Amino acid sequence: MKCRYCDQIFPENADTVLNYFHHIQINHYDVLTDNDKTMHDIRDNMIKSKKEYDTLKKKIGDSDLIFNQKNLDV
Ligand SMILES: [Zn+2]
Repeated sequence: MKCRYCDQIFPENADTVLNYFHHIQINHYDVLTDNDKTMHDIRDNMIKSKKEYDTLKKKIGDSDLIFNQKNLDV
């Protein structure tokens, strides 16, 4: 996966999306359009929710239901 804003390449692995997200936040947040900033902030909240969900998932077992429901509420 290649960055939209520079030539940095992100190897495909479980953390690609998160690594790319943090890269955007650190390097490119200033050049995002208002709409992209909004999307970025929404995703930021989703990632925080996802972390809570992953913690929960370890307790209750494998299911995408909770995270998907949070997505719908955004
Ligand atoms: Zn970049």
